[in-house]
Amino acid sequence: MSLPQAFVSRMQARLGSEAHDFFCALATPPKTAVRWHPQKGISRFVEARPVPWHPLGQVLEQRPPFEREPLWHAGAYYVQEASSMSLRAFLPEKRPLRIIDLSAAPGGKATLVLAELGLEGGLLIANDPDPARRIALQENLERWGIPAYFITGRHPRYWAERYPEAFDVVILDAPCSGEGLWRKDSTAMRQWSTQLVQRMRRLQRSLLFAAKALVAPDGRLIYSTCTFAPEENEENLAYLMQDESSWHPVLWSNAPPEVVSVSYGNKGVGYYFYPHRSVGEGFFISAWERSGQSVLETQSWKTTPAPYPLPKGIECFRQGKMYYALTPGALAMIPPRWEREKWEAFPLGERIRPAHAAALMVGGMTQAFPERPISSEAFERYLRGELFQAQAPVEWVTVEGLGVGWLYKGRPSLPFTWRRFLRNRCY
Ligand code: SAM
Repeated sequence: MSLPQAFVSRMQARLGSEAHDFFCALATPPKTAVRWHPQKGISRFVEARPVPWHPLGQVLEQRPPFEREPLWHAGAYYVQEASSMSLRAFLPEKRPLRIIDLSAAPGGKATLVLAELGLEGGLLIANDPDPARRIALQENLERWGIPAYFITGRHPRYWAERYPEAFDVVILDAPCSGEGLWRKDSTAMRQWSTQLVQRMRRLQRSLLFAAKALVAPDGRLIYSTCTFAPEENEENLAYLMQDESSWHPVLWSNAPPEVVSVSYGNKGVGYYFYPHRSVGEGFFISAWERSGQSVLETQSWKTTPAPYPLPKGIECFRQGKMYYALTPGALAMIPPRWEREKWEAFPLGERIRPAHAAALMVGGMTQAFPERPISSEAFERYLRGELFQAQAPVEWVTVEGLGVGWLYKGRPSLPFTWRRFLRNRCY
């Protein structure tokens, strides 16, 4: 692997005697990690090591073919590189929380947050301005199945202008020069240049100012990137927080020894993950808290009787013909004036026919529809769209007790790729 000279010089200056190990680690294959769903009740890769900073994280010895794995389709786990799972250490303990993830696609941090929020913990707004990446975000959040979110596609400035100080937690997992991803993605290295780092630094600063404006008193700003460039990390935060007396840094008091802390500004502390020291890819994370007392305004939406019985603790609301699901904790945290925004929520479908997402929801659907358990082998055929005969009008298809889709009487089950296009419709 031939590394750019400017990058080599910077990392040698930064890491000193560790630089050689770091460069060697960059030439090794990336490690695959997964984070298990806390409510779907399965956790089972045996040949795996725990991720030190996440109780449900595992690092795998080999990458299984996830796309053919029924448990992946059921949302029993999320494939996420291990360093990113450290976000959990920076989330506050208090509940309920109104959280916005400004650059959420494809959903790694967002699914982690939803796992923490559960049914009563609050609301996540998963935002990303890139429409193509939002498709993956939507699929991943539906598969995860905790309906405590809305997906939006605004620029962070839009949010900052309309909803200042409206969030308990603002996550900016910023677009960056991607130095930490070179093991996974060699194009990121080919596209790298010192000019790219400067361009990203400027973009991140403007996003950081918008993100900061969104934080409520007593709320947190969590900033992360997957790059090692200090200009994009601690230097940006030092600039953002200079002369701020009403903000203080959030420290990771029991950070594992393989994580390297860096001090910046007059009191900031950031945390670096290097591939020669720890199990994940390159990553930087740092958080700040605004002093004061939170007085978040909320506007609960009217719930509607669901079109079919829902799992316990999940509520239904309606927009036009479509029914959507939300947890009670999320319903209680909706910002005022919110119905005017453009969003996607967790779709339940129209009347009696459930949307694909509903099959994947936490809590299961056994009360509403007869369950149709199938084997892993049969699931492969189901994915290919092979015809299965349903006995009841609608059957809930499960593998190992977890929902993976629906079967309709008298109609072939649609191949997965078709289902993608029809995801939000009833069929
Ligand atoms: N948080 C995601 C996760 O954990 O899966 C990864 C986010 S990725 C590092 C950066 C994201 O920033 C991309 O999805 C990209 O679409 C988004 N992005 C690009 N330009 C942006 C902007 N101006 N404002 C906010 N997000 C932006």
